[in-house]
Amino acid sequence: MKHRAITIDGPAGSGKSSVAREVALRLGFSFLDTGALYRAAALAIRDAGCDANDNDACGRVLQGIHISQDGGTTLLNGRDVSQEIRTPETSALASAIAVHPSVRGVLVEVQRSFLSRSSLVAEGRDTGSVVFPDADVKIYLHADPEERARRRHAELVAKGMSPAMETVLHEMKIRDERDEGRKESPLVIPESAVVVDTTHLNIQEVVEKILSLVRERLTD
Ligand code: C5P
Repeated sequence: MKHRAITIDGPAGSGKSSVAREVALRLGFSFLDTGALYRAAALAIRDAGCDANDNDACGRVLQGIHISQDGGTTLLNGRDVSQEIRTPETSALASAIAVHPSVRGVLVEVQRSFLSRSSLVAEGRDTGSVVFPDADVKIYLHADPEERARRRHAELVAKGMSPAMETVLHEMKIRDERDEGRKESPLVIPESAVVVDTTHLNIQEVVEKILSLVRERLTD
């Protein structure tokens, strides 16, 4: 049976993770958080004491490790790193190493291997443009930067951190610029993607919008 792929791309704080997780649950598909793979790779590179600016060295570290994901759990060499990957330091390091072709090459293969096992909803920056160009449905979510920073700030506060809102907004803008400006697989609106502005929508509203679109497309 051909597995189905639904991709949801967009910048940090656009609502991708919460929406993709819920859409996957409602469809009975697996959920793939590709950002978590980049974050786990960042931890591996940090732990190896590797220079994050060195494409070849980062690639070599990733050749020797195993990153996997099951539901909301991300494993690095069998160790659960689901919490550890969510710090602001790891966000910054993940975005820095994500510019390297060697890193993306390894992680694209890991991502594609998920589709050989089950239908999935994948979320990230290049899932519709590069990883799954033949996806059945492609969505691009965006929202105003201030609203995205507000959401990210609330997430960090819920985890017991207390960053200043201006710091969150500033770090998010740096990540946006790097993700949009890099040579290798920049954040773009994939061809044929449906664009949804989530600034004034809650998670459930976005989920319903996507589900009705998916049902329309999958029954065509
Ligand atoms: O989505 P999340 O914030 O967890 O992603 C962390 C970082 O990983 C992003 O800032 C981005 O640089 C990188 N990433 C990427 N391609 C993806 C997913 C994430 O470059 N498909």
